[in-house]
Amino acid sequence: MKKNDTSRALQTRIVHSQDEITPGFESFAAPVTRASTVVFPDLATVRALDWRDDSQWRYGLHATPTSAMLTQRLAQIEGGDYALLQPSGLSAISNVYFGLVKAGDDVLIPDNVYSPNREHGDWLARDFGITVRYYDPLIGAGIADLILPATKLIWLEAPGSVTMEVPDVRAITTAARARNVVTAIDNTYSAGLAFKPFEHGIDISVQALTKYQSGGSDVLMGATITKDHALHLKLKQARMRLGIGVSSDDCSLVLRALPSMKARFEAHEKSAFALASWLKTRGEIAAMLHPAFEDCPGHASFVRDFTGAGGLFSVVFDERYTPAQIDSFCEALELFALGWSWGGSHSLVMPYHVTSMRTAANWPHRGTLVRFYVGLEDEADLRADIEQALATLA
Ligand SMILES: *Cc1c(COP(=O)(O)O)cnc(C)c1O
Repeated sequence: MKKNDTSRALQTRIVHSQDEITPGFESFAAPVTRASTVVFPDLATVRALDWRDDSQWRYGLHATPTSAMLTQRLAQIEGGDYALLQPSGLSAISNVYFGLVKAGDDVLIPDNVYSPNREHGDWLARDFGITVRYYDPLIGAGIADLILPATKLIWLEAPGSVTMEVPDVRAITTAARARNVVTAIDNTYSAGLAFKPFEHGIDISVQALTKYQSGGSDVLMGATITKDHALHLKLKQARMRLGIGVSSDDCSLVLRALPSMKARFEAHEKSAFALASWLKTRGEIAAMLHPAFEDCPGHASFVRDFTGAGGLFSVVFDERYTPAQIDSFCEALELFALGWSWGGSHSLVMPYHVTSMRTAANWPHRGTLVRFYVGLEDEADLRADIEQALATLA
């Protein structure tokens, strides 16, 4: 409809936009393009639609200019060529499973994997005719002995986000490539900044954008990033069939936080490293599971492959403290909140009972593990807070 076409009723003019946006407006904010319906100029365009073509707009579920802007930036950060968005990190993991495996296939998962990934794998094994086996995250080249003709997918997580073992990614991807098995890494720990998966032979990288990318503890989103076009299409098709999409509003929140991500990541890393260095000297702590410290299994792989660490680390308390005492320690913390997730400004803490979380690899510690996420509070305040909570253990 033309501007100021008064031949039509006001109600029609309100419904059909007559706005001509003034050219010349420019700002730094990503425009939020909301859509379910995408409007086509003619039917020839409709008939030429091909879901494989990432440059076409079809339907708001699949992509909008705002979501496309985010996928491009995420692919750049990760060093990949294609990215797809999902409404959570877990649904990105699910997208990988549904894109790649079918009944009769076999999947290998590290024993220290993010727990909901494990539950997803167990569910596929129980109800969808897939075999799922767990491997020692420190298996390295030994993974070759576990690969069967039916093996279609090997998961990696570097490091495991609770117990922090750092796998030898290159050894695992080399064995996988030799047998044409796809590898997918949960790269959330590094935010794509500190570990570049495609330089180490990985096929698919998964990010929980809920963490550092969103940075505000207020958005849930995930991404799968690839370099191989055929793999991208497999994931894209599964995503389409599952009806997976994200809102442009949420994308704009992540786009808003991305420019500060590197600075935030480095600030988290600096405080976390300082606190870990101090905690390591405390008599209450039996092991420091921060990949930059030698106690941490896979430390050598971390030094070789990573350029940074972010704000996450775990400690194992001396076994003289009961789980109930460690619970009290966590609850005595005032600045570290009890809660899942990480990547925001606020520090978090959570105790874990690791033995009940694994089946393949031996867990050598007897004390309780506590994971810290170090936020953007003043470091001295955080240290004083941990100190007063440790005092309650005495
Ligand atoms: C948080 C997290 C996820 C899942 O992200 P959600 O958006 O919370 O579903 C996946 N993997 C790792 C390692 C995570 O920390």
